[in-house]
This record gives sequence, C-alpha cells and structure tokens, in this order.
Amino acid sequence: MERGMISVDRWAQGSQAYFLTHLHADHTVGLTPTWKWGPLFCSQVTAKLFLTKFDQFNKLSLLRILDLGRWYSLPLFSPSSGQPVTIQVMAIDAHHCPGAVMYLFRGEFGCMLYTGDFRWETVDPRAEIARGMLLEALKGVKLDILYLDNTYCDPSYCFPSREDASRQVVDIISSHPNHDIVISIDSLGKEDLLFYISKKLKTKIWVWPERLRTMHLLGFQDIFTTNTSLTRIRAIPRYSFSMETLQALNLMRPTVGIMPSGLPWMKKIFSGPGNVVGPSPSHGVTCSKTRKQNGVLAITEICNEYIYTVPYSDHSCFSEIKKFVELLQPTDIRGTVSSSPSNVEPRNFFGNQKPFGEVRAGKHEGPQVRSPIETVESILARRERIIKRCGRLISRHFISRLDRVRLLRRLRRGIKITDSEFSP
Ligand SMILES: [Zn+2]
Repeated sequence: MERGMISVDRWAQGSQAYFLTHLHADHTVGLTPTWKWGPLFCSQVTAKLFLTKFDQFNKLSLLRILDLGRWYSLPLFSPSSGQPVTIQVMAIDAHHCPGAVMYLFRGEFGCMLYTGDFRWETVDPRAEIARGMLLEALKGVKLDILYLDNTYCDPSYCFPSREDASRQVVDIISSHPNHDIVISIDSLGKEDLLFYISKKLKTKIWVWPERLRTMHLLGFQDIFTTNTSLTRIRAIPRYSFSMETLQALNLMRPTVGIMPSGLPWMKKIFSGPGNVVGPSPSHGVTCSKTRKQNGVLAITEICNEYIYTVPYSDHSCFSEIKKFVELLQPTDIRGTVSSSPSNVEPRNFFGNQKPFGEVRAGKHEGPQVRSPIETVESILARRERIIKRCGRLISRHFISRLDRVRLLRRLRRGIKITDSEFSP
C-alpha cells in the first residue's frame, strides 16, 4: 500500500482515510476536537462514546461507523499515479475495551490485519464470534502482514482468563468484609469486571461522574453510582491510585486497593478462600515470598499491606498471542508496541514460523517503523531524578512498575502504523 492512503490510530495530516481502533488515550494522540484531515472510521460503540472524550468535536460528519464482520469498499486514489484505488476493510471485535476493534484490510497490496489492542480469549463466546468472522474473511486468503498487540509477547507473561481473575477480585473483597475497597480502572475498560463484582456481591459500585456517564452510555443503568454512602466499593481512576492514596484512606477507614493488571507486579500471595491458581510470571517481580497451591504458584499478589494486584488483563497473554499467530499464519508480523526488542518483539518468538524477510522485497516493500525518541530506560531515569528532587515518599519499586506500564503506552504512540503502508 502506498504512503498517503490510510492511517490507523495515527492522527496527522496526509492520509485519505483514518481508522480508530478504540478510545484509549495512547491511540488518540494527535486527534483533537478540531480534526479535519479526513473521514474517521470506527465501531458503533466507539462512535457512541466519542463525545465523552472529544466533547467539542466539531466535525461529527467525519465519523464513519463500521459494523462488525462486514466488508466495506473505500474508493481512494493512488498518490503517485492519481489513479483510483479500492481498499476493502472489515472491523472485527478485539475484545479489549468497549468499542475496540481490529481492522482487516485487503486490496492490491495484499491482506493486512491490524489488531489494535486485543485479548484473544478463545473460551469467551464473543471471542468465538470474532474468531469465526476472521477465519471466514481469511478463507483462502493469505495474511501478508499481521500488526500485532505485543504488549505481553513474552512467555513470562502468563495470566488467567478475565473470568477467573474476576473471581479472584471477588474473593479479595469478600475476605475484607469490614474494609472499604478501591479498584483502579481507566476511563474505559474493565466494565465486565465491575459488573461481575456488582452481580456476585449484590452491591452498587461508586464511579466518578464522567465514568458514570460512560457507564450509562454503555447500558449500565442501575449498577453504578456517584453516591459514596451507597457502597463500600469504589472504582477510581488509575492516575489517582497509589500507595499514598491508600495510606491516606487508611488513616480514615480500613481500605484495601485492588489493581487489575496483566503486568506481573510483586509476588506475595493472597491466601483467601477460593483463590484461583495458575502459573506465575517469572520475570519483572522482586518479592521472594511465594508459595504453591496444588503445585502451582498462586497468582493474586499483594504489593503492600493495602494493595492487591490481580492479573486481570485486557491484552492477550503470551499463550493467547501464540495461538493467534498459529491460527493466522501470517507471512510477516510486526509488533505495535515499542519496547525492548528482547522481550516483546514478536519476531523473536514467532520468527521461525515464516521467512519474514522474503516478503519485504515484494509488494510490501519499504515499510519502516519509526524508532521512539526516548527509551523506557531513559524516561524512567528522568522520572527517578524528578522523584528524588521532589523528595516524595513513594515506593520506588511500585512507581517504577506503574511507570513501565504508562511508558509502554507512551512509546507505543511512536509506532502506530508509521510504515509506508499506512502513514502519510
Ligand atoms: Zn487499549
């Protein structure tokens, strides 16, 4: 595909059509309420939520809704020859956060799949539908390039289904009947977890006013509240969830924090009833107190006396990514998350599957991935200096873990399909 035709999650002038996978902030960098550079394609749910994020957006006429599982033809033109070119696109449920989709493109350039952020839980009925759509669309067609959410593309990232992780969260809450509970969430995502908690414990959950509006738009009418007196469980923004917050809350009332995340944090085991067990990540953790239950390491972890982390992830773990790649058998594969090439570059793990180098000399000639200007390490080092200067009493380990998650997101901005196929 020629440069200057389409962009995915990349918001700069110069393409003819723009595709938004979902509304998380790291996928909308550069998209502003004054957007005017071309039609913006997204799913129906994303379109519904769009104004919660861009309330001043003045060109709603530029929004184009794509139904899932249906091919659409886009009449574009070749920037080099000026000749008309048709590109076909299909949106498929990415099972990440509400509205998140993958995009499958086909045309003279071949066939490409951009996953955006995705979770490939094959046991889930929704994922089954997406799987069916994808296989049907790819029937008899070779997938030339897979642009993959490689957030956890390392065998050490191993976590259970979101349903199992949800049970762990309920267990933690149930084992603290006299505590207030705060759960860290983003402005979008983890709704199913909160719904599960509410249903199992028959309680409302507090959210902040903007989040309540989002919940209402998503159809959750009676479960969430902004009235703190109605519930002991609060879902709070991730940016305000910290040890300091938990320490301050505990000065007033006994409070436990729960952080649902796929990232392995620290190993100290929650020993409450009904704990779901599974293999524990082997890297990126520092606490030594681990123990086995039924021969397998338990995976609910507690950071300090106030905060539990539970491996609830909206991204695929390594085994799911592996299954996905084996299913699709792409000719070439590229990660969409920039990080240390040693632990998340998908070619490191799947490179022996296909001769990735060969395709580059053909019709997909010249794709290049823009390197991030800063590395994770350099930004962390800068952050360390700032923390020192401020003299804040924050657990170094805890904040460095938090930062790594955030930085992975930040660095990701730099490589949203910037290849010649998709970018201006
Ligand atoms: Zn996301």
